[in-house]
Amino acid sequence: MDHRGYYGPFGGAFIPEILVSTFEELVAAFETAKADPSFWKEYEQVMSTYSCRPTPITFAENLTRHFGGAKIYIKREDLNHTGAHKANNVMGQGLLVKRMGKSRVIAETGAGQHGVATATMAAKYGLECTIYMGETDVERQRPNVFWMERLGARVVAVKDGSRILKDAINEAFRDWVSHMDHTHYVLGTACGPHPYPEMVSYFQSIIGKEARKQILEQTGELPSRVYACVGGGSNALGIFSGFLDDAVELVGVEAAGKGLQTGKHAARLASSDGSPGVAQGYKTYFLQNEDGQMKETHSVAAGLDYIGVSPILASLGEKGRVRFEGATDREVIDALTLTLKMEGLIPALESAHAFAQAFKEASKLSTDDIILINQSGRGDKDIFTIADAFDDPGWKTFIQKKAEEYRA
Ligand SMILES: *Cc1c(COP(=O)(O)O)cnc(C)c1O
Repeated sequence: MDHRGYYGPFGGAFIPEILVSTFEELVAAFETAKADPSFWKEYEQVMSTYSCRPTPITFAENLTRHFGGAKIYIKREDLNHTGAHKANNVMGQGLLVKRMGKSRVIAETGAGQHGVATATMAAKYGLECTIYMGETDVERQRPNVFWMERLGARVVAVKDGSRILKDAINEAFRDWVSHMDHTHYVLGTACGPHPYPEMVSYFQSIIGKEARKQILEQTGELPSRVYACVGGGSNALGIFSGFLDDAVELVGVEAAGKGLQTGKHAARLASSDGSPGVAQGYKTYFLQNEDGQMKETHSVAAGLDYIGVSPILASLGEKGRVRFEGATDREVIDALTLTLKMEGLIPALESAHAFAQAFKEASKLSTDDIILINQSGRGDKDIFTIADAFDDPGWKTFIQKKAEEYRA
């Protein structure tokens, strides 16, 4: 990265004049914290007492036997507080907010996971909290809205545009412009203007630091390949960071949705549909048409359903350091089914993309190879979507009965 936050041709900070000094303040606070060894110590301390760190790696013995190729290991980010790697980022930014002496945080959320994580952090650190969410997502994600409000956050339903994540991001920036003196914007992934890609991947690097040490301790070797799903790119950058300087192949798995040829996917780097552009304050690969109009994206996993991708990943892709692949909704449901039945693990639909790609490749590797999959989160939140995908008759009856009770 250069001093203006560019990774090759990607990244940068395309922000309104009025926010320039706020960004300078944030960059300075982050640089100071990063240079202070006690800051990372404090961060690790918080994560170990509040969010189950270090998360273990699990040997997937049954899946390994089933595929008959590489030994499969899983990094368990699902064991974090609120059920995903998102805790790493929000708790880190929370510590920074305390250092900056600000009293309020705002955040955008699509599926609601980042909103819930931010609201827990705000509750713990006694910060005022407002969460922006597209109105469509508010309706789709009732349970998460419920928890955010119980945790003390104000949830604002955004009625602009398509009333989804990108509209929530725009609204959060509008809020920030009017309240920047006491408000910090907790961005949820390694995207957006500098320093967010760097800052978010810095906090998420705790995954890779732990994973490298753990796999060496448990097996005496480094993995041949590491797999992670890619939404904005934060969990992938987190685990990849531990292996960037090693002879380890890094595989980022995007949502191929209904198929890479169908146009109904969210594969910015694994398909030929993405192209470089500037939006939402940074330069990266976006799913956009020739006029720069953003396309509709699709994925069974709400957390991967996003038009942009981390500029750091775009750059690593261009350099050939990370290979990008797509897993379809169907492949993801199959991978999830197998993992549930064979290992008793419940990966989030997002994480199951990494599993699906690893499963396609495991049997082609030798039994001496090790592969490591990042289980970015747990799948409890996906109960409605998964029940739908499985067409579960018992579930349908249950829902019908509840709906009748509700009407009566
Ligand atoms: C939000 C989320 C993702 C996608 O975000 P990244 O920034 O790409 O990591 C992936 N997995 C889970 C479980 C999530 O909640």
